[in-house]
Amino acid sequence: MCPSCNNEPETALHTLVTCQFSRACWDKVGMSFMPDSNTSFLSWLDTVLNVYTGKDVRMKVMVCWALWKARNELVWDQKGREVTEIITSAATVLNQWSNAQDKNFDCFLGFITQEEGDEQWTLPTQDTIKLNTDAAIFEELNRYSFSLVARNHRGKIVDALAKCHQGTIRPEMAEIMGIREALSWVKTQPGKGFVVETDSLVAVQAIRSSAIKLSYLGRIIEDCKTLLGELKDKEVSLRFIR
Ligand SMILES: [Zn+2]
Repeated sequence: MCPSCNNEPETALHTLVTCQFSRACWDKVGMSFMPDSNTSFLSWLDTVLNVYTGKDVRMKVMVCWALWKARNELVWDQKGREVTEIITSAATVLNQWSNAQDKNFDCFLGFITQEEGDEQWTLPTQDTIKLNTDAAIFEELNRYSFSLVARNHRGKIVDALAKCHQGTIRPEMAEIMGIREALSWVKTQPGKGFVVETDSLVAVQAIRSSAIKLSYLGRIIEDCKTLLGELKDKEVSLRFIR
């Protein structure tokens, strides 16, 4: 039986295409080919691969993958997913993959603007302070750390700090903790005009997307969003750098 609906046998076609949950996901990404029950998954996929091209076909394939991953999380970890999480997961991974293949990646899908993603560090504009954050995981030592350096428009270091903690966490979590630290630092500063820069694409996407509700990042993402809200008058922006 399908673990999602408990209503029909779990075939490839059902799980990835025709299950109620999967249909809802396909609706969101504009799938115009819903098969009848006699169609096999492969012949449906064949149609999809022939009809769609470029970014469209890649997204369709990525949704299949995200549905399969969600199915496994449900079966093995008893974790239920929402439709928006499937779409975001598919879009995010596709974007990261595209980004890894070439530099002409779709900014909209990745919640990244055209003005970001520099490969070289640049000076902040006049009267702006730029904070660069980074994180590191030391698996053998069971430690992780994150750090930040704040520089003014002349490139002069205004402040720097590093924190090291005991424990094992995922790299993106440590990156987001660094961003949260940077935002907390901004809160203590007078004046306005701050840029927080990170090389963690996942962190930027998670903070910008309202749909990402990854449980292990949940609270810390909310912290960052709250801080960004509180710091509205201080003109803080978050930026992605390669
Ligand atoms: Zn089902």
